[in-house]
Amino acid sequence: MEGRTPIIAGNWKMHKTRAETRNLIKELAAGLRINAPACEVITAPPFISISDAVEETRNTQIRVSAQNMHWEDHGAFTGEISGPMLKEAGCSHVIIGHSERRQYFGETDEMVNLKIKAAMKHELIPIFCLGETLTQREDGKTFEVVKDQLIRGMEGISSSDPTRLVIAYEPVWAIGTGRTATPDQAQEVHGFLRRELGALVGIDFAAKVRILYGGSVKPANTRSLMNRDDIDGCLVGGASLKSEDFLGIIKGTA
Ligand code: PEP
Repeated sequence: MEGRTPIIAGNWKMHKTRAETRNLIKELAAGLRINAPACEVITAPPFISISDAVEETRNTQIRVSAQNMHWEDHGAFTGEISGPMLKEAGCSHVIIGHSERRQYFGETDEMVNLKIKAAMKHELIPIFCLGETLTQREDGKTFEVVKDQLIRGMEGISSSDPTRLVIAYEPVWAIGTGRTATPDQAQEVHGFLRRELGALVGIDFAAKVRILYGGSVKPANTRSLMNRDDIDGCLVGGASLKSEDFLGIIKGTA
């Protein structure tokens, strides 16, 4: 992972009220003041807590991401939030295509592609999630599935700055299940994704894109994952909700 600054990103999902958001960020910021992180640190609270998170992270190294966005800038899309709104609120990143969005809210690769394009247009860094289900893995379709998601998600995208795109490989069977992919399993897919991304947008570009692993990451398994060549950080769900665990994961990147 030469030259690629690691990223640890916490996806809080539908957890934490505004007050809880402020408290957790205060705890994280205090922890990071004692042990300066060797990685970029991102938190993704629910939409309603973003402004609180942005305020609390001022003068810290923590950056704020949204968990989703709509591809249109504005319009009659009840319940949705647009790129310009996230940008104005102070987000730097936005998670796109999380498996829960795909599974529970019918998000397709085409929607993911529109969202990535919209995020880039508004200078938000997309954290583009992809990954296979357990059935797909057991059927030997992992590489076919992630390649397809990558190609469809990246269609028509030609970014010139590799630091403005983050990919997160999240095997669906490892999310929230306590069942982490082994470092070998993760590395195999990360290496594959980097090669495929190279074929799509150029080898030099792909060599600089951060590819995160997500799926039951904990302090205890961070280091073994991070030791692998193509694993540039982690997207963390459950373990990002407690400062002690999240700080432990951040430490694992040192
Ligand atoms: C996630 O939701 O992106 C995730 C990786 O969750 P968990 O860490 O809880 O498996």
